[in-house]
Amino acid sequence: MTSHIPYLELHTSNMKLITIAIDGHSSCGKSTMAKDLAKEIGYIYIDTGAMYRAVTLYSLQHGLITDAGINEEALRQEMSDIMITFQLNVETGRPDTYLNGVCVEKEIRTMEVSKYVSPIATLGFVREAMVDLQRLMGEAKGVIMDGRDIGTVVFPDAELKVFVTASVDVRAQRRYDELTAKGEKCSLDEIRANVIERDRIDSTRAISPLRQADDAIVLDNSNMTIPEQKAWLLEQYRRVASE
Ligand code: C5P
Repeated sequence: MTSHIPYLELHTSNMKLITIAIDGHSSCGKSTMAKDLAKEIGYIYIDTGAMYRAVTLYSLQHGLITDAGINEEALRQEMSDIMITFQLNVETGRPDTYLNGVCVEKEIRTMEVSKYVSPIATLGFVREAMVDLQRLMGEAKGVIMDGRDIGTVVFPDAELKVFVTASVDVRAQRRYDELTAKGEKCSLDEIRANVIERDRIDSTRAISPLRQADDAIVLDNSNMTIPEQKAWLLEQYRRVASE
């Protein structure tokens, strides 16, 4: 089957086109493995965390988050002004996130955005808008989507579902390394606390809480290298797509 992505003529095997849902805890390397697989098999990669981060960045930029909290009513009114898109970055071969036409790939990864993103992601109207967009982006299949509720809510019929986790210390260290490599000043303790807090909010929220889908395969990658994870995921894809 040929890829449905016109600019990528990579997926020319007789594998069937499927939907791959990758959910799991914060900072456990979901996006790295998802991006790598998408590149390898010519699928579209969608980072749904980036979408919630973009809404959070918009809220910060427009004064909708203050010491008093989130101005929910104003955000609800402004949701239709928030346009989130992805564009393939030809240098990295990976999609960058755009907020109202501006590339915000770097801005959405700061500690400030990480601090507010989970409370923003608990809001029902935000989730509804993001899930609608995610379903639209993935309706043609041939997509790898990572997040917290992809296998449970967004695409409950996804052919391949993976639930990724790793120990808190491993995840905090990975995030610390990622941010310091980008030149952001941060403390390991602050990151560790943020990872724990985001998991707590994500797992206990009323709407679409983070949980493992009954038919998901669990991957604890605490002691795996990135190439090992990549090989593992490719194997899962081959098994399911050739069935
Ligand atoms: O994946 P990432 O850590 O960038 O996601 C940022 C936050 O966005 C998560 O901590 C979670 O609160 C929220 N999120 C969500 N549902 C998704 C993806 C992310 O609630 N599908």
